[in-house]
Amino acid sequence: MNEIEIKHIYKNYPVGNKEHFTALSDINLSFKKGELVSIIGESGSGKSTLMNLIGGLDSQFEGDIIVDGMNLRGQPDKVLDKYRKNKVGFVFQSFNLIPHLSILDNVTIALTLSNVPEKVKVEKATALLARLGLEKMLKRKPNQLSGGQKQRVAIARALINDPDIILADEPTGALDSGTTAQILEILKEIADDGKLVIMVTHSEKVAAISSRVVEISDGKIVKDEKNAAYKKGKKHKAEKTFPKGEKQNFSFKSALKLAFHNMWASKVKNILMAFGVAISISAMILMLSFGSGLTDYVTNVASDYTNPLVVPISKQSDNMMSPTSSTWTDEEIDTLIIELNDFLQQQNNDFRVSEDNLQRGFTLINLAGNMAKVSVEEDGELVDTPIFCLYTTPPTYNETNLIEGSFSGYGQAMFNSYIYQILGEDAVGKDIKVTVTLGSEPIEQTVQISGIVDTSVFESILCMYIDYDYLESLVVAQGETLSPTDLYVITDTEAQAELLNQFISNSDKYSGSIEERLANMFSEMSSTISIALAVIAGISLIVSAIMILTVLYMSVTERTKEIGVLKSIGARRKDIRSIFTSESFLIGLLSGIVGIIFSLVAYAIFVVIFTALLGFAPLSLRWYYFVMAIGISVIISMLSGLYPSAKAAKLDPVESLRRE
Ligand code: ADP
Ligand code: MG
Repeated sequence: MNEIEIKHIYKNYPVGNKEHFTALSDINLSFKKGELVSIIGESGSGKSTLMNLIGGLDSQFEGDIIVDGMNLRGQPDKVLDKYRKNKVGFVFQSFNLIPHLSILDNVTIALTLSNVPEKVKVEKATALLARLGLEKMLKRKPNQLSGGQKQRVAIARALINDPDIILADEPTGALDSGTTAQILEILKEIADDGKLVIMVTHSEKVAAISSRVVEISDGKIVKDEKNAAYKKGKKHKAEKTFPKGEKQNFSFKSALKLAFHNMWASKVKNILMAFGVAISISAMILMLSFGSGLTDYVTNVASDYTNPLVVPISKQSDNMMSPTSSTWTDEEIDTLIIELNDFLQQQNNDFRVSEDNLQRGFTLINLAGNMAKVSVEEDGELVDTPIFCLYTTPPTYNETNLIEGSFSGYGQAMFNSYIYQILGEDAVGKDIKVTVTLGSEPIEQTVQISGIVDTSVFESILCMYIDYDYLESLVVAQGETLSPTDLYVITDTEAQAELLNQFISNSDKYSGSIEERLANMFSEMSSTISIALAVIAGISLIVSAIMILTVLYMSVTERTKEIGVLKSIGARRKDIRSIFTSESFLIGLLSGIVGIIFSLVAYAIFVVIFTALLGFAPLSLRWYYFVMAIGISVIISMLSGLYPSAKAAKLDPVESLRRE
């Protein structure tokens, strides 16, 4: 029975728009197992074209090629991939070994595509390489081998899947005569073992040792002769057989391993690229940690000052920085009291809010610096320092909030520790000139410093605390009125306070404590900064994506030949894609990890700098930032890898093998 039946083959290559070139014309041939066929002919006569058709690398032709009862013409890729993987083995003139894989791996790769267990693969490949006299070369790389040795590796790779057909396109074209003889001897042995070996050659001498010579000229068969002098050699001792088993597909693990090999082969390039991406990733982590750091800090400090029986209430305001937008009118206070009491009644709670348990407070955040200041005489001149925050002492404060001295009464004020920088260590007890502009005219008043409040947050700016009644009396003395910015309900039990707090936090008209408002203000400020940082991080991530895309795209171009080889040994599109996808996955993973390391280093540096400058560091890291960083990095590089992997998968095997 004929192994291959070729009937009326025509192959046209398109040239230009409507023209085509007929490379093969009415070819009729049949081949049997055990034959060693030489195909000879001038360069350009169509030998390689015929080999590519027989090998299932190209299924676009007219006529029939029937192998094992299956017609190769027009078969889908899936069928041809399987055919190349199991039925044929290719040997090329230029060896086409994969340069970054060891000799052993170059041979086992064909089995890797079938997901054969590691142990079986190594055992089988070692036996085959030993038979070809390469047992000492297993760990070497292709460039450490001579031409003849390389071709023997290529033959081992072609044989490893135990195919019935070996196709060798000018296998000795790049070898000297001594080595040529050795390779021919091996090919003859393979044929004598019962396989069909078809080889293309220029050399009459090479053709002379084969069992049959077919000559092609201008795409037509001009001679087909059996060699009467051909002597079949002894059948080679049967090799240890391995169970063929159900051929499985390339596993994800193998793809990862192969991708890792590829990356390792160009590690400098990949590490540099990972560094580039890592910078963007770490910028993103730092941006997030700044955002949460500020809010964290303020809310932490705020929670230090809570008194479980006091419920602070302020108006929700769009503009925290405007001193008047958040003031309460008397009607608003009345409405609040009614709303709170309605709620308490609904909740069947006996507590009622009234003027008796409602206290007023006033907060001025003096960002512009022109609404409140202290003035101290130095060398005969008055030196002003703006009061950044002017508070009336809230009922939530107690002795633990004091660093030194006592709470202020009428004619007195408290400051934060910044006052030491103005008046020295013995500031408590001293008088200081304060100017506050709340109405039309500035109020100038000399007050006595009664104590120092520990604010922790604002050690680098000046804050003043004064009694509400005292501040109100100063404003009233000017003929104006002071409207509170903050209200405090003093409850009898913690349960009542909790209930009211619940009402406040659910309401979109009211909000909680000053500290909460400050925290809001800070997160507003920091979110502005965060948006700017996010834009920068976003841009740098896009740059990273483009960089990964470029590197992977170049890698596809560089490895076109390798992709052709993989396809010739039966790699499916999917397999090629999964190798490149795995590579982009690994790049993403590596970049993410390096990015985390970068961000930890930068974090440590920022903490040191901020602590030295401000006394606290507005950064905090969360574990999920790292998860996000890895996630984003992997997603970005896998997205960037989509196009290059698709391109690699789509490469035409014939064209990629032609590439020099
Ligand atoms: P050989 O292997 O015998 O030297 P080939 O089979 O490679 O010849 O090529 C046969 C003819 O087909 C040559 O004239 C070549 O230029 C042409 N040819 C091969 N591949 C293509 C192609 N992809 N497009 C157009 N012409 C091609
Ligand atoms: Mg050729």
